[in-house]
Amino acid sequence: RTKAEGRNGFRFFDVSMQRLAQSRWQLEEGLHQAIHRGELELWFQPQVTKEGVMSGAEVLLRWRHPTRGLISPLEFISVAEESGQIAAIEEWVLDETMRLIKHWDSMGLPETFRHVSINISPSHFMQSGFVSQVEGALERHTVANVNIELEITENLLIENFEQAIKTMKALQAKGIAFSIDDFGTGYSSLRYLSQLPLNVLKIDRSFVAPIDHESDETPIIDVIMLMAKKLGLEVIAEGVETQAQRTLLTERGCRLYQGYFFSKPLHHEEFYTLLKQERVLLPT
Ligand code: C2E
Ligand code: MG
Ligand code: MG
Ligand code: MG
Repeated sequence: RTKAEGRNGFRFFDVSMQRLAQSRWQLEEGLHQAIHRGELELWFQPQVTKEGVMSGAEVLLRWRHPTRGLISPLEFISVAEESGQIAAIEEWVLDETMRLIKHWDSMGLPETFRHVSINISPSHFMQSGFVSQVEGALERHTVANVNIELEITENLLIENFEQAIKTMKALQAKGIAFSIDDFGTGYSSLRYLSQLPLNVLKIDRSFVAPIDHESDETPIIDVIMLMAKKLGLEVIAEGVETQAQRTLLTERGCRLYQGYFFSKPLHHEEFYTLLKQERVLLPT
């Protein structure tokens, strides 16, 4: 290896790192304006019973960037967390979600549609003003028949157990439900889980994806189903994409599903149109 190659190699690395830092910085700057310019959008993905009836939905944030088009939350949520903008963004998500539900309710909602779940970032959840923020949104737009569920992650719970349980109990008293997102990928212990006011475990997509026609061995799913049963929790399987996955999960006792097999996330207007049709969401 010559000296020049080494230098080139190094320079290449340097330039790509610089580009990465620059694009992160641009995202961070753009996010400051995104709320005020109305660039954030709420999309909803149906959650269905095994009969394909929509019993609820998960809110998924999208950013319609003026030049880059639709940006995935996988790209900008971590930027918002690191730059301290996540609380302001999710405050908008909370308020806008509840406002939309109230609006839908005034135009008519199917009786079978009972809950909407909202992702909450750990750093936001742990902020001292979080409880009153949620209470504020609830006071502004309450809908009697639709429950709000907050999705949190396992690691948040162990890192700040005392604070987390206080926050959860205060919000539970206001009618908020809690689910653990991406369940099985974190580090929560049975002891923690049994002490928290939880309602739902969401089986992470990584445990659903390997299910196929060949094998019916699903040790992790079996353990999660058993745990949920013992703890009195509901289970939702995430990322269900095929009939084989749905069938096997049903055999294992799963009652609620979310995934492309039933529906992809939809822009809120398109989602409401689908919801109003009261269709059974099963591909034929
Ligand atoms: P998540 O909460 O686990 O949401 C499920 C993700 O899986 C969504 O990706 C959804 O579009 C995708 N998905 C659903 N069904 C399927 C399927 O059958 N196959 C596959 N391959 N994917 C499926 P999305 O919308 O890109 O969101 C990614 C993550 O971004 C979410 O994962 C959530 O952790 C985060 N996120 C979204 N909105 C918010 C928010 O308002 N706040 C926070 N903190 N995080 C958010
Ligand atoms: Mg989620
Ligand atoms: Mg998540
Ligand atoms: Mg998830």
